[in-house]
Amino acid sequence: MATPYDDQNIFAKILRGEIPNDTVLETDHTLAFRDIAPQAPEHVLVIPKGAYVCHDDFALNASDAEVVDFMRVTGRICAMLGVQPTEDGPGYRVIANAGGHGVQEVPHYHMHILAGRPLGRMLEPA
Ligand code: AMP
Repeated sequence: MATPYDDQNIFAKILRGEIPNDTVLETDHTLAFRDIAPQAPEHVLVIPKGAYVCHDDFALNASDAEVVDFMRVTGRICAMLGVQPTEDGPGYRVIANAGGHGVQEVPHYHMHILAGRPLGRMLEPA
């Protein structure tokens, strides 16, 4: 059975205004803010405002409006950071960790946007 949503997770507290965050962009359905422990010069987290645990929960259960808004925000963040790939320019990586094997720490769906330096290969050997 899928993990139930825990409304005491830290991103739920951020969405309720109980914990501050460094907001980059906010829309009706989505919030983007800087990661508190950045792993690259640019490290932004994009989260839906709705209560979704992880990527498959969001992708299967969110409304079309929520999904479209979320994806548009990820694109807008890349544009705001100025990291869109060019012929010889930067680039970035998006990551959504899920569950135990994905080593997800915060059980509220989020996408990491990492940029600002060469990021190495996608995965280290296990
Ligand atoms: P994950 O391991 O994919 O669940 O990533 C959770 C991310 O949330 C980590 O990169 C943390 O540094 C980040 N994080 C945890 N607490 C906060 C917070 N209060 N504000 C911003 N980012 C946070």
